[in-house]
Amino acid sequence: MKILHVIGGEETGSADGSAYADIDPYTRESYAEVANGGEKDVRRAVAAAREAFDTGPWPRTGLAERGRLLHRFADLIEAHAAEFADAETRDMGKPTSAVAGHDVPRAAQNIRFFADHARLGGADLLPSDTGHHTYVRHEPAGVVAAIAPWNFPLMLATWKIAPALAWGNTVVLKPAEDTPRSAALLGRLALAAGLPPGVLNVVLGFGPAGAALTRHPGVDRITFTGSSTTGRAIAAAAAAHLTPVSLELGGKGAALVFDDADVDSAVEWTLKAAFGNSGQVCLAGSRLYVQSGVYDTFMERFVAGAEALRLGDPSDPDTQLGPLASAAHHRKVTGYLTPDALGGGRILTGGASHDWFVRPTVITGMAADAPVHRDEVFGPVVTVTRFDTERQGVGLANSTPYGLSAMLFTENLHRAHRAAAGLRAGNVWVNCFFVRDLRAPFGGAGDSGIGREGGLYSREFFTEPKTVSVRIAH
Ligand code: ADP
Repeated sequence: MKILHVIGGEETGSADGSAYADIDPYTRESYAEVANGGEKDVRRAVAAAREAFDTGPWPRTGLAERGRLLHRFADLIEAHAAEFADAETRDMGKPTSAVAGHDVPRAAQNIRFFADHARLGGADLLPSDTGHHTYVRHEPAGVVAAIAPWNFPLMLATWKIAPALAWGNTVVLKPAEDTPRSAALLGRLALAAGLPPGVLNVVLGFGPAGAALTRHPGVDRITFTGSSTTGRAIAAAAAAHLTPVSLELGGKGAALVFDDADVDSAVEWTLKAAFGNSGQVCLAGSRLYVQSGVYDTFMERFVAGAEALRLGDPSDPDTQLGPLASAAHHRKVTGYLTPDALGGGRILTGGASHDWFVRPTVITGMAADAPVHRDEVFGPVVTVTRFDTERQGVGLANSTPYGLSAMLFTENLHRAHRAAAGLRAGNVWVNCFFVRDLRAPFGGAGDSGIGREGGLYSREFFTEPKTVSVRIAH
């Protein structure tokens, strides 16, 4: 199988003919050859997006017609659920059932939501009591560079391209090197849905392709999801042309379980938050804080739950955890299970399994600055700390430079609101996890990024507001 760029409506290899192997992390064998984008391919893609923006119909298409085409795009995504599921399973080891049952519907929903939101959203009209009538136009920003990570390749790519397209921009999408296939399929399906050539371009390749995109002067917006280190490099590159950036970066989410929590429900949610997608989630609840009164009961059930999770062939519908996404990532995650990284911590259950698998791993007793507790591990690894008072628990949860997400479990209404207000995080889930209302702002504080997307926050990022004042002569 060959996986190609989609540039200006054409499927194409790289200008210099370069390609790389797409490794299936379950078989650990190459199953496809991927076009390896370089500077020239990025230039071609930005030129195609520019032309489609400057002279093509897309930015000038009425919102109803644009919405109709985007809904057709979403229909095609749903119709290709099996192909997307196969793509993500083979590219990164994600269980097929999770892609088909969760990621594909959410991807289609991303497209549908923003298509409708752009069409139905209100305009800003200001009272005409000064002899002027003033209104605000939200005009498309231009060419959007969307750089996506490998952990939710389809879902996060659509989360970026949906608002960009809905508000009339053209896009160059650069997926992660490990997960090119669903992005290439998105590029082809956009054309099949009737989006004009050059509106959605896909350039495949490694970091240098992303870097070439972020320093290109023809790019008007950069939306990125990935590591904090790469986010810093992108912010620096974007500064050269003052290109606005939206950066959703790493996390080290805390989950607080209070004495007054519904323990079984808390166990169920925290297991999902720590180990879902093999922990390869920026929103993961990878630091668990449990109040003393409930600690023993909770831990007994949590460890048993972790041990009951089924690892295996990701294409088997019974599998809950596949392998980690790549050899390099497996090395990184298992590097956190060494004595130095554990910082005195004890592994209650888990550890490296076979091949590129890591079992759900629960660690206690580590030092506060142990790398496994401090850094974003991005694997099925959770550290557990006991706390006594609400104030202490919230303080511990906030003791990280990240500020993306946090969870808390309590049946006490007052505590729920009080603790939610005290947590430094862009998203707080009370007695749940991973709930996303697409109208709400999404993003993080501190090392977790810059900016928010979602609903009107996306409109703000992907458009240039223009104030028009018209004199009314009497
Ligand atoms: P990870 O370290 O987990 O691979 P990254 O944040 O480096 O995560 O990757 C996320 C995305 O950013 C991928 O598409 C990757 O190719 C891209 N990328 C990596 N380095 C750069 C860079 N310097 N500039 C722009 N994009 C980059």
